[in-house]
Amino acid sequence: MVIILLGPPGVGKGTQGALLVEAFGWERIATGDLLRSARRDGSELGSKAQSYMDAGNLVPDELIVALVRDHLQKLASDQGVIFDGFPRTLAQAEALDGVLADVGRKVDAVVLLEAPADVLVKRLSGRWSCPQCQEVYNIHFDPPVTEGICDECGARLTQRKDDLPDTVRHRLGVYRDQTRPLVEHYEEASAPVIRIEGDRKLEHVSRAIRRSLVKQLGVGA
Ligand code: AMP
Repeated sequence: MVIILLGPPGVGKGTQGALLVEAFGWERIATGDLLRSARRDGSELGSKAQSYMDAGNLVPDELIVALVRDHLQKLASDQGVIFDGFPRTLAQAEALDGVLADVGRKVDAVVLLEAPADVLVKRLSGRWSCPQCQEVYNIHFDPPVTEGICDECGARLTQRKDDLPDTVRHRLGVYRDQTRPLVEHYEEASAPVIRIEGDRKLEHVSRAIRRSLVKQLGVGA
């Protein structure tokens, strides 16, 4: 199975992707996580990506496509894959179609998660995380016991530069203009697009996704 999790920043792709990995044993390829880890490692890719990410802009397609191709090559040819945060442009989608076709695979389904913009802004601008153990909090919905301190390891929490309110609004605009149109690309390619309302409790969202995948693709949980 090759599944794409599509949706605006803050809609919960990361959380839902991790739950799908648990349920189905798929491999999750999350380009945002890979880029942040490249930055932490101080790699060339990380330093090239930094200014784009901090401003809430997309990292150039050629860097992203090379990163994904690299990861895909390491996987067994029948390994289920879930893409989270990729593709984000038509050029990336077309490149992915080509990479998959080379190994006799295709996109099996797109899971489109959506939620109103005001909900997304509140979720993202309230997000703080631990630079040490990567635990994520939300000051509105899921705050740490002591303000600004990680419950798990006691480190001081930090906010991603791209989660500052103005940058969040910019990222939502980038999504609307460059990424949301991919829905038509996949509809034209006859990949089923499964629409899921993301503004609900995470377990309801995850159940809805799993049910749709089982029903539409016959994947076993
Ligand atoms: P995310 O964690 O998925 O919200 O990604 C954080 C940032 O990483 C984005 O705002 C972009 O700057 C960059 N990024 C992640 N995935 C991609 C992608 N597929 N194409 C371009 N830039 C990306």
